[in-house]
Amino acid sequence: MRCPFCAHDDTQVKDSRPAEDSTSIRRRRQCSSCGARFTTFERVQLREVTVVKSGDRREAFDRSKIEQSVALACRKRNVTQERIDQLISGIQRQVETAGEPEVPSARIGEMVMEGLKQIDSVAYIRFASVYRDFSEAKDFEEFASTVAEAAKE
Ligand SMILES: [Zn+2]
Repeated sequence: MRCPFCAHDDTQVKDSRPAEDSTSIRRRRQCSSCGARFTTFERVQLREVTVVKSGDRREAFDRSKIEQSVALACRKRNVTQERIDQLISGIQRQVETAGEPEVPSARIGEMVMEGLKQIDSVAYIRFASVYRDFSEAKDFEEFASTVAEAAKE
């Protein structure tokens, strides 16, 4: 696998172990040219799924994009990487087993919100505020108070 730092073609696997309840294999790799270390994951992909975005744009389902936005929402929150991986693996499995070759990006956004709601309310609000693209602060306040009330129940 190519080094993401210097683009050298030869990297060595230093360590390989099961992760996420053995649903994936985590490999630590080291570049033989620049010495940089990085991690790759091997996961089961059940089927190819296309994500339909706004304006009818289509792209292949890309787990790393969800990972980035969830990591941003969970920044400095007490949420472990393992918990995030489980959430995203759950969504990926749902998407791949739904039997539909295409899934709207809005549906994926909702699944992420549903998941984050169970994990961390601040991360949930952060993700939802970006995802729903609140144009007015008032909308956001209303939404945040709805969430606070829901948390009390
Ligand atoms: Zn390198």
